[in-house]
Amino acid sequence: MLCDKILEDRDFGHLYIIVNRRAVRYTFRPANDGTPKVGIRVTVPPRYDVKDVVRAVEQNRTQLLSMLQVDQTAKDKKTETVRIDWDFRIETDCLYISLVKGVGPRYMLHRLPAQIDKDEQGEDIIVKPAVLEIHCPPDCDFDKTNIQAFLERAIVEGIRNYAKAQLLPRLLGYAARYGIQLNEVKINSSKGRWGSCSQHKQRSLLNSKKSYNINLSLFTLLLPMHLQKLILLHELTHTLYMDHSPAFHTQLDAWLGGKEAALEKELKKYTTSIFSFVKKE
Ligand SMILES: [Zn+2]
Repeated sequence: MLCDKILEDRDFGHLYIIVNRRAVRYTFRPANDGTPKVGIRVTVPPRYDVKDVVRAVEQNRTQLLSMLQVDQTAKDKKTETVRIDWDFRIETDCLYISLVKGVGPRYMLHRLPAQIDKDEQGEDIIVKPAVLEIHCPPDCDFDKTNIQAFLERAIVEGIRNYAKAQLLPRLLGYAARYGIQLNEVKINSSKGRWGSCSQHKQRSLLNSKKSYNINLSLFTLLLPMHLQKLILLHELTHTLYMDHSPAFHTQLDAWLGGKEAALEKELKKYTTSIFSFVKKE
């Protein structure tokens, strides 16, 4: 099946007209061509009339739009939940997570901290990522919803431990470098945001120095190192500017060596869920 013609479309981006000898009428399917608008594949019989195809698209526009929507929702759901089983694997800069067939009926966590070195600027270099192995009973039934929920919880808690061990010193290192006074740093499992920053209210009137509380999502640890840096410095920049004003971005961009926009774009590939980091074979 060859694409006979590509037409531009305001809603779908592209209409791919595909001729099929056996087709007796038009059929429409999402093209999934990698563009944000997805595109539509229109299968047509030989000796078709382009104007008639365009007319058919026009007449079916509403249904086609909802077809694309359904297709997109199905795909979103798919990336959101990956089955956790023997093949489940997360391999990021800082942490390797896998399931291991145990011998007994019990679940056990095996942990091995990361080996970390420093570069000339005092920034962390991961020599060897931390390891989190979840040893499961050999007959573990991964089809059970409660087993899936249990394993997800175990993995998240495992990440939380390493996030505390690695993200806190990393953040404090940057804070010290820029002379920023932090009051409290918390690692949470909140979904939807990588971090947040708020001013700490001083009780004492004598102490006028401002200090700040920062919350970091534990999923930040699963990001590549250069994106972790984006998150950490983003929150530290909020200690200087509590908004996302041009001044905020100027400061953050300076700390990131002019790479803020590129890093922000790269960050969009990830979400605050373990399933965003699952290794695909
Ligand atoms: Zn912000």
